Amino acid sequence: APTGGRPSRYLLKLSGEAFAGGGGLGVDPDIVHKMAREIAAVVREGTQIAVVIGGGNFFRGAELQHRGMDRARSDYMGMLGTVMNCLALQDFLEKEGIDSRVQTAITMGQVAESYIPLRAIRHLEKGRVVIFGAGMGMPYFSTDTTAAQRGLEIHAEALLMGKNGVDGVYDSDPAKNPDAVRFDALDYGEVITRNLKVADSTAVTLCRDNDLPILVFELLTEGNIARAVKGEKIGTLVNG
Ligand code: UDP
Repeated sequence: APTGGRPSRYLLKLSGEAFAGGGGLGVDPDIVHKMAREIAAVVREGTQIAVVIGGGNFFRGAELQHRGMDRARSDYMGMLGTVMNCLALQDFLEKEGIDSRVQTAITMGQVAESYIPLRAIRHLEKGRVVIFGAGMGMPYFSTDTTAAQRGLEIHAEALLMGKNGVDGVYDSDPAKNPDAVRFDALDYGEVITRNLKVADSTAVTLCRDNDLPILVFELLTEGNIARAVKGEKIGTLVNG
């Protein structure tokens, strides 16, 4: 937590896949409701939260490219998919009595504000959750990289990377290797040289170059968002 009385501010990255629940595609309202409840709980305690949601439950550009589509066009589809997740989260935050704003990197005035960094900061200061949609608006990037970039631009203390079904960073894939070992802490360099699954490399180098710590944790475990915000020892912390 910062000194000088400023409330803590975090960029929370939510896995798009988690939003699908068991269904694999689309949005499971029960999961989104659960996310909204957990975010609402920390916002009520005074923590400022900005959110980036992935879009893997709808489209991933690289996957569509492998099936013959133009990469840039399929990346735009991916970005548009994230916006549906944003609107779903906004809806459930509203039901929790928490004000929020969706800001998108691709202008779509009827459903969201445009991305305006200073206005986003103003919303956060007023206790509103800001949900960033449509990634960075640029093909060939990811929502992990968006989370790092937005986190830096709004001066977040850390990037909280909520993962679907894995509780931190392991030395090998825990789904395939029962002897996989989880790291409590790592430095950026190790993540990059060992190609560990924290985020894509663009996101990790952006965090490294600008000293933004990353906490990788399991998103769907009850209370984990609050634990992450409080700095409890969950998941894997990546920093210098
Ligand atoms: N995307 C993009 N530029 C961005 C952010 C996202 O092109 O700045 C596209 C990209 O095709 C990506 C898709 O949106 O595959 C969905 O995002 P992502 O794969 O990061 O979602 P996640 O895997 O985190 O659910």
